[in-house]
Amino acid sequence: MSILKNAIDSIALGLEDYETSKEDERRIVSCTRNIYAGILLLFKHKLSSLSAENTDEALIKERVSPKIIDNKILWVGKGKKTVDYQSIKDRFDSLGIAVDWGRIDKINDYRNNVEHYFSNLEHRAIQGLISNSFIIIRDFVSEQLNKDPKELLGNDSWLTLVDVHEVYEKEKQDCTDLIESVNFFSDTIKEAFVSYSCKECGSDLIYPKEKNTDASENGFICKSCDAEFSYEEIVSPAVINHFEADAYIAMTDGGDSPIVDCPFCGGAYIYEEKICAECGESASHECDMCGSEIPPEELSDDVLCGYCAHQMSKDD
Ligand SMILES: [Zn+2]
Ligand SMILES: [Zn+2]
Ligand SMILES: [Zn+2]
Repeated sequence: MSILKNAIDSIALGLEDYETSKEDERRIVSCTRNIYAGILLLFKHKLSSLSAENTDEALIKERVSPKIIDNKILWVGKGKKTVDYQSIKDRFDSLGIAVDWGRIDKINDYRNNVEHYFSNLEHRAIQGLISNSFIIIRDFVSEQLNKDPKELLGNDSWLTLVDVHEVYEKEKQDCTDLIESVNFFSDTIKEAFVSYSCKECGSDLIYPKEKNTDASENGFICKSCDAEFSYEEIVSPAVINHFEADAYIAMTDGGDSPIVDCPFCGGAYIYEEKICAECGESASHECDMCGSEIPPEELSDDVLCGYCAHQMSKDD
């Protein structure tokens, strides 16, 4: 069977799982697995179709080795093992094939968490995954495979994808509007709340209990599983998640971490914005003794840089 046929079948199976998960929540796990696998197979189909002749589909093989064929050196696929998620990403980057990886990471995170962490398996919570998958599949099939996605997937799959996507988008918009009506310490923190997913079921349909109030005084509810959270329960994980990519770059390439522990409450302190997302306090970023800027890791509730604080302690 061709890779493309496998991809279409896997997506169709996932959508059947979605329908049956209305009655049987255990099917949520196979739904997410099948849809995710289907997307990776679409990607592999693209790599397979770009692989040169006589190379044993080199672009989808994890290992390749050089061979001389007709007096030319060709990189030929070795063994049966095919590329994993990270290798697909690397090869697409190298070939200039653009894909919205942020969206796929979301799908992958949900899939991983549904198998290992969520205590509530909620039918409604998969709508976000299906909506994200819809956008990825639609764009990839039309832009990279140059096919009509509706024709390729078949009417049933297509209609389910479109329906779920539309319902989800509307519900997400309602939640976002309610979050917009609430006062946050900063817009960044607001954005972090909009993209936060419930830790019980994985749904990002989270909305504040009361409109037009202060966020830090508010409670927040998950529309999918009805779990209720305080501001403090959500804010630090949401902000840390929001800055995850920047924190990763700072960690691997050097540079300052965008988030540090708040010197006042221990919550997530956004250094660039001089504000703690949890308690709203602002620490002084300028040393009282020498006037130099206090770097993130030396921030404290008194106003000295690490060097001056050390000198002071020696004088005592
Ligand atoms: Zn939930
Ligand atoms: Zn704080
Ligand atoms: Zn100083």
